[in-house]
Amino acid sequence: MIKTDVLILGGGLAGLSTAYHLNKISGLSALIVEKEKYPGGTAASISKQGFTFDFTGHLLHLHDPYGKKLIQDLLKGNLREINRSAWIYSHETLTRYPFQANTYGLPDSVINECLFGFLKTIHRPPSAKKKKTPTSFKDWAFETFGEGICRHFLFPYNEKLWQRKLSTMTTEWQGRFVPAPKVSEVLYGAVMDQTKAFGYNASFLYPTKGGIQSLPNALSSRLKKKQLLLGHEALWIDLKTKEAFIKKIGLISFKRLVNTIPLNDFISLVKKTPARVLNAAEDLSSNSVYCLNLGVSGRVMPEKHWIYFPEKKYPFYRVGFYHQFASSNAPAGASSLYVEFSRNSKSKVRLSDMESLALKALKDCKILKPDNQILIKEWLPIKCGYVVYDFKRTKVLNALLPYLAQNGVESIGRYGAWKYSFMEEAIMDGKKCAEKLKGNLC
Ligand SMILES: Cc1cc2nc3c(=O)[nH]c(=O)nc-3n(C[C@H](O)[C@H](O)[C@H](O)COP(=O)(O)OP(=O)(O)OC[C@H]3O[C@@H](n4cnc5c(N)ncnc54)[C@H](O)[C@@H]3O)c2cc1C
Repeated sequence: MIKTDVLILGGGLAGLSTAYHLNKISGLSALIVEKEKYPGGTAASISKQGFTFDFTGHLLHLHDPYGKKLIQDLLKGNLREINRSAWIYSHETLTRYPFQANTYGLPDSVINECLFGFLKTIHRPPSAKKKKTPTSFKDWAFETFGEGICRHFLFPYNEKLWQRKLSTMTTEWQGRFVPAPKVSEVLYGAVMDQTKAFGYNASFLYPTKGGIQSLPNALSSRLKKKQLLLGHEALWIDLKTKEAFIKKIGLISFKRLVNTIPLNDFISLVKKTPARVLNAAEDLSSNSVYCLNLGVSGRVMPEKHWIYFPEKKYPFYRVGFYHQFASSNAPAGASSLYVEFSRNSKSKVRLSDMESLALKALKDCKILKPDNQILIKEWLPIKCGYVVYDFKRTKVLNALLPYLAQNGVESIGRYGAWKYSFMEEAIMDGKKCAEKLKGNLC
């Protein structure tokens, strides 16, 4: 039987980073098992017929000094900084992102409705504001931005993305993701084309070659030989005997386990789990993202990186353009697009139906013109796409994570820790986990 100090489930950025940092700071042995034949998880890319597609746009926003230095070092000579060009398409008009600060260009009636609702939120008597603390995302959005902005963008867009009633969601996730412009900016952006860049992703970094796969590849290349076992799925885990059964390998015995696969899937692999833990895991909620990648002839939407679609008549919530991140993502003179659909993770979908709807809608909104020929279509489904911050989430995590900790499991990364986070954070999670294990095991 293979023996290791640390067994890591999943070769996405969090798993790769854990092994990389364990090698760097400890003498512990570590093995990663990854079910796919490539590393990277949701930060992987596929290359076909001269096109490189990610699992929808994967752009680097670097905030932590250590994370920034490591990622810049890993991708040395293969990174470009890009100023975001993000847009919203509604009322047959393109307006700049974020909607709440950029209603200029929309029909007057829509601008008036958005401004009137927004001004009401400011001038409402303080007593009325104090009556109820906003708790749900829906209440918070309404009380912060008013009726018009919610009706024309925040509600329909977020309902499309999250696939549930916004009154069931908390506000814990939105801090950095929903920009809150000043009153003067909302007013200015209603009468002028406001070019100020708002939000956490005003500029980003992206590899010049190889798509985002370059990042997990670079991290994998710094691991020890045979440390990353690709094409090997974990089938069950026994936390009492500290053994995991891995497809095409058999049993691996470990001292500590690091989980980066979606928390609910992980719990279902653990043998003899107490009923209260199994029941709690049932309440973890997520959506699934279905990414339709298209390679087309001709250059589409020059200078735009992605466009949000709040309106129901468009079946997708966002469309983006990989060729604008790096010209190497498409052959010369061609374009590569990603079209993002969201569904409740429990829903059944028919990709062929979604594809027909997508192609028609892309023509309706004139992203695709009659002379753009489809050269390649590639669906990349992400079963667990966005973790949902509903009112059950914290309670469930408070039941699950201590149980796992007591049984020697660190559950980290976007899906292991069940959170809304980014690539840099996944890498930092791996570093922190390695430091913790070194302290406990060395
Ligand atoms: C639609 C979308 C857009 C995003 N855009 C951005 C962006 O622009 N910028 C950004 O920084 N971040 C973005 N992210 C987030 C980013 O993808 C993640 O934060 C990061 O890649 C998560 O890494 P991870 O290692 O935690 O998880 P994952 O990448 O999910 O890794 C988990 C790994 O476990 C493997 N696995 C699953 N089950 C098993 C099993 N039984 N046995 C063995 N292996 C298994 C999976 O194959 C996977 O490789 C986006 C995410 C999504 C879904």
